[in-house]
Parts: sequence; structure tokens; C-alpha cells
Amino acid sequence: MNRIAEKGKAAVAGLELVDVVKTYQQGKRTLHVLDKVNLSLESGQAVALIGPSGAGKSTLLQIAGLLEQPDAGEILVKGVAVSGKGDAHRTALRRTGIGFVYQYHHLLPEFSARENVILPQMINGKSRKVAGERADYLLDLVGLAERGSHRPAELSGGEQQRTAIARALANDPAVLLADEPTGNLDPETSERVFDLLMKLVRTEGLSAFIATHDHTLARRMDRVLHFEGGKVVEG
Ligand code: ADP
Repeated sequence: MNRIAEKGKAAVAGLELVDVVKTYQQGKRTLHVLDKVNLSLESGQAVALIGPSGAGKSTLLQIAGLLEQPDAGEILVKGVAVSGKGDAHRTALRRTGIGFVYQYHHLLPEFSARENVILPQMINGKSRKVAGERADYLLDLVGLAERGSHRPAELSGGEQQRTAIARALANDPAVLLADEPTGNLDPETSERVFDLLMKLVRTEGLSAFIATHDHTLARRMDRVLHFEGGKVVEG
């Protein structure tokens, strides 16, 4: 039995990477950014990814988020294998299965917080009414029920990032990927946004994979993965 089939017998992980390889060519040099990376993220669990700059954390998140293709290996979202599927299928799986939070919020500046949470749902085929109801639910969940009509520029850094978190959850994903989600915030706001993320991981049963430079925050997650030399090491 191959490794993927074996793993299928266990509880389905939100996200699983099996022997994922990614190399980049830099001149004559081949850079082994991901060297047979294996990992499995359970539901309701936050996993920290730490490693030096240039180690490949963003590449790993991009590949885990189906934004970039690996050279080899398999990615499974909620037990569904991605390789061999066409672009349309991968895009659909990404839209419905995965939410992203970046260091900078990347909210659309000309739209309100509420509209920023509505739009990804409408792109995904939801009616404005249904999308609006979920946006209200999510903005309430992140403590911004009163701020939905504000545009990003009218919100504080912490509020912008909380809106970005609500947007990431818009399509009810199984997996939340975050690249330095508190990296642009002052320590106190960073702490509050982090607490919110952890609460949502538990209550929404997310598999969260969070790249951070902050070792204190990393230690407060359920697992810490160190990433260096193309390999992921637990502990
Ligand atoms: P991190 O997020 O840990 O700082 P990255 O994933 O951004 O690391 O990059 C990992 C390595 O891969 C770096 O050495 C970077 O220069 C290289 N790299 C990233 N993208 C490309 C690309 N498209 N072509 C060539 N090299 C790349």
C-alpha cells in the first residue's frame, strides 16, 4: 500500500503534504527549496512554521495553498488529492478549501469591510443576501460588528487584520494559511490578533499553518515546525 493510501485510513487531515519537492534554478545552481517535505495538519490545530529568511517558508505556503505547483509530491486538501487535477479544479479547491492571511491585509481599499468579506463568496457563486449574512456573522466573530461599513483606511491596523481574517474564512475553508499575520502590528495588537486566530482555529475546527518570526507566538501554537535546508523538522 502506498503512503497516501495508508494515511487515508486515519482521520482525514485538513491539509497534507506528501514528499513535496520544489527546486528553483538560479544560474547554474539548483536550489532545493522543498526537499521531500511531509506534513499533516489536523483540524482544530495551529502549527507554527519558523525558519530563517530565504529558507522557503513563503514557497511552502504558496504550494500548500495551491497557488504554485510543486515539481513532485502530493497535496491533499480534506483528503482530496490535487495532483493531476486541472487548473479549474485546483482553483475551485483553493477557493472553497483554503483561506489566506498575509502580513499586509490586502483588503480592497474602495470597498467596505463587509463588502471585502462578501466579494469572495459572490465570486464563489453565493447570492449577495447569503454572502451578506455570513459576512455579518464573521465580522461579529472577529469583534467588528459595528465597523462593517468602514473602508480599510478608516480602520486601525488590528481592525484591518481582523477583517482580513474574516475574509479568509468567508468561504468556510478547512485550512487557514497565514504568512506573518501579525508581523505588521505593534506587540499588544499582535497579541490580540493572535488570540483571535487561535480562538477561531478551535471554534471553526481549522487546520492552521502560520509562518512567523515570533518565537513566543510560535511556542503558543500546538506544534512548531522548523524549516531549513528544504526539510521540515518537528520541535
Ligand atoms: P522565505 O519565505 O523563507 O523567506 P522564500 O520561499 O521566499 O523564503 O524563498 C526561498 C528561496 O527560493 C530563496 O532563496 C529565494 O531566492 C528562492 N526563490 C523563491 N522564488 C523563486 C523563483 N521564482 N525563482 C528562483 N528562486 C526563487
